[in-house]
Formats: sequence, structure tokens, C-alpha cells
Amino acid sequence: MIDSKCNPSRTTTKTLLALRSSNPCKSTASLGRELGISRERARQILSRAGMPTTIIRPKSLCPVCDSPLRSGQKTCSLMCFHKIRYVEVACSHCSRLYEIRIKRLILMTTRGQQRWFCSTLCKISWLTQHNKELRQITELSKRAG
Ligand SMILES: [Zn+2]
Ligand SMILES: [Zn+2]
Repeated sequence: MIDSKCNPSRTTTKTLLALRSSNPCKSTASLGRELGISRERARQILSRAGMPTTIIRPKSLCPVCDSPLRSGQKTCSLMCFHKIRYVEVACSHCSRLYEIRIKRLILMTTRGQQRWFCSTLCKISWLTQHNKELRQITELSKRAG
């Protein structure tokens, strides 16, 4: 049996859903208070609409843009997800900025790598150029010695 008196009006539902969307950090109790309905009633409406009934804690914020996150999310969007995983480095050969995985950057730096190349071509060009210089230096030191 449905108690019609307990069924919230459409306007109340609509307002509540709108309030929830714009205030993800507000509790169902305070949302209900604003509309003059009980906390339990507010919770029911929200869960029926598939909206979050629990407060999104301010501590779970996107590390990139500070947007509130849903539970389990690490970043608010794919764009922010990309930003925390990638960083821009300059190519040691052509100075072009390109993106590299932060994990890889840390790994390679701990292995002693200090140079970054945007492409294999740049790496080869750089190595050839510097090997030539290195050979010249060795030859010069040989001649001197
Ligand atoms: Zn974000
Ligand atoms: Zn390059």
C-alpha cells in the first residue's frame, strides 16, 4: 500500500535533485531541512533517482583541479588522470616539449638517465653528434699524450 501523503511532490523531488547536484558535500539532513522534508525522505528520493545519498568528503578532491571526487575515483576526469600520470620534458636534441609517463621518468632518473628524446631519430642524432665530439676529445688527448 502506498501512502500518498508521504509521497513528495514533483517540485520537491526536482528541487532536491538540483540541490544535490550543486551541493555534493551537503548531507541529506541539511538538504531535507531546506525543503522541509525529513532526512530519511530526502535519502529515499535521492537513492530512487540514483543520486549519491552519502556526503562526498571534501578530502577526496581531484589532485589536479580540486573538484570533488566520487568514492574510488582518483581524478575527476580522464584529462586530469592524464595530467597526474604524464609530465612534460624537453627533448635533449631538438628541445621540443613532449609528454612522458611520470613513473618512467622517475625510474629512468634513478637509473641515472639525464637526457630525454622525443623520438628515436632525435636520440640517434644526439648520440652520433656527441660520439663524434667524444672521439675528437679522445683523439686530441691521445695526440697530447
Ligand atoms: Zn580534475
Ligand atoms: Zn627531439
